[in-house]
Amino acid sequence: MKKVFDLIVIGAGSGGIATARRAASYGASVAIIESSRLGGTCVNVGCVPKKVMWNAATLAHGLNMAADYGFKISREGLDWPLMKKRRDAYITRLNDIYQRNLNLDDIKIFHGHGRFIDSRHIEIAGNDKIQPIEGKHILIATGGRPTLPDIPGAELGITSDSFFELEQLPKRVVVVGAGYIAVELAGVLNNLGSGVTMALRKEVFLRRFDASLREGLMDEMLNAGVNILSSTQISCVEKQNDDLLQIVTSHDQKLKDIDCLIWAIGRTSNTDAIGLDKAGLQTTDNGFIDTDAQQNTAVDGIYAVGDITGRDALTPVAIAAGRQLAERLFNNKPDAKLDYDNIPSVVFSHPPIGTVGMTEDEARERFGDVRVYQSRYTNMLHSLSDDKKKSSVKLITAGAKEKVVGIHVIGEGADEMMQGFAVAIKMGACKSDLDNTVAIHPTASEELVLLR
Ligand code: FAD
Ligand code: NDP
Repeated sequence: MKKVFDLIVIGAGSGGIATARRAASYGASVAIIESSRLGGTCVNVGCVPKKVMWNAATLAHGLNMAADYGFKISREGLDWPLMKKRRDAYITRLNDIYQRNLNLDDIKIFHGHGRFIDSRHIEIAGNDKIQPIEGKHILIATGGRPTLPDIPGAELGITSDSFFELEQLPKRVVVVGAGYIAVELAGVLNNLGSGVTMALRKEVFLRRFDASLREGLMDEMLNAGVNILSSTQISCVEKQNDDLLQIVTSHDQKLKDIDCLIWAIGRTSNTDAIGLDKAGLQTTDNGFIDTDAQQNTAVDGIYAVGDITGRDALTPVAIAAGRQLAERLFNNKPDAKLDYDNIPSVVFSHPPIGTVGMTEDEARERFGDVRVYQSRYTNMLHSLSDDKKKSSVKLITAGAKEKVVGIHVIGEGADEMMQGFAVAIKMGACKSDLDNTVAIHPTASEELVLLR
């Protein structure tokens, strides 16, 4: 068996697979090591199954609204086990596609836990039959895992990983956390019919997002019946006699009869068990691996991409950084690197959020004088309903030419409209460019070219 490779990739997730395949396309000999399922977090316990659940929740919301449009349908209960079976089958098909593509690209797959034995050699831990392999270049793309808090009874809760293993819709759920995953899972479960309480340790969720987004989402989630406990920490979790949970908060409040507690308090990097010290590498205090603008670590020939670098923890970011790295190493493009500015993202909350560029606070701090355009409107989807849900768009410009430096949207359609506006921002669009673009009517997107 071949023992020396042009590139060894540890971790077959978003970043690892993208880098491996791009490198192989230029003729590099590539090995990839994966300790779990091919595709990593995004495919198996992240973006993909989450989006399926978001779609299910959005359909449930639509079914609730259908009567306002005159449909006479009785809403049958969701067959959760059937939905899970179909979702799991879809993920398995994706795993197979990844396997097939890696095989077609002639990439050697090692199943097991990769660990440095020195800066050039990786062993597949726990598999004595495979000798250590040598890489001229080595990429670390090992991602992260959900964090559990250090409190009594924490293990009685689940994380986003095991959310995707639930066999039934839980009745009474507590979601602890204030980031993407907390608001997304809370929104999904609330729309599918669970009673949901969110516990935020600070006043608000999505703290780093523009105020218009977090305030808009807070209003909508409260209106939709989510119980939100602000400035609340969890002190301990206990099992009741009937196997349900009792959760005690920092205010000594007891949340009783809970059948599902979800910890969504962030993620821990998978950098603790890969022998970094043997390679001469250290992590930051947060467990990340520091890289320069071209994904180089402190050791020559060792690179890192994706969540473990502590930069925007998003699938397309890991993929794009990995592809640029492969272009540099194997396609003679010495300057290739990912531009991390103006990365757009969507929070699949209910309603969804789309955002790109600076928040108003960041723009004011950076440029001083900025102009802010904002509109709140009711999406026509709700025109026949009594419940007139509010959407909002916000545009932030800076300088005499009014360059657009931030766009923030919450409401139906925000998820699909942001990609195109992100292109405009990346190209340096000014407010006048949006003004000069004819609207598409009637859509939610047109709000952004009609702002005055
Ligand atoms: P990963 O995809 O995590 O891959 C790392 C791989 O390395 C894993 O397969 C792991 O098993 C393997 N591994 C770890 N250690 C070893 C080892 N020592 N040896 C061998 N293999 C190892 N991002 C979006 O852009 N959009 C979304 O909608 C979105 N939704 C998300 C929803 C959830 C619930 C979660 C948890 C994340 C979501 N993300 C989303 C984030 C996205 O999944 C990550 O940013 C992305 O997967 C990071 O890719 P990566 O290559 O860095 O790591
Ligand atoms: P995040 O880092 O987004 O959010 C976790 C939040 O939980 C923290 O910001 C913090 O908020 C709060 N928190 C931290 N510790 C505690 C604690 N002990 N008790 C209570 N609350 C706590 O992490 P996620 O796990 O939600 O998501 C990880 C990353 O994955 C995201 O940052 C994102 O990049 C990516 N992702 C992307 C998605 C998308 O693109 N749609 C969807 C899901 C994930 P505070 O300090 O305000 O209390």
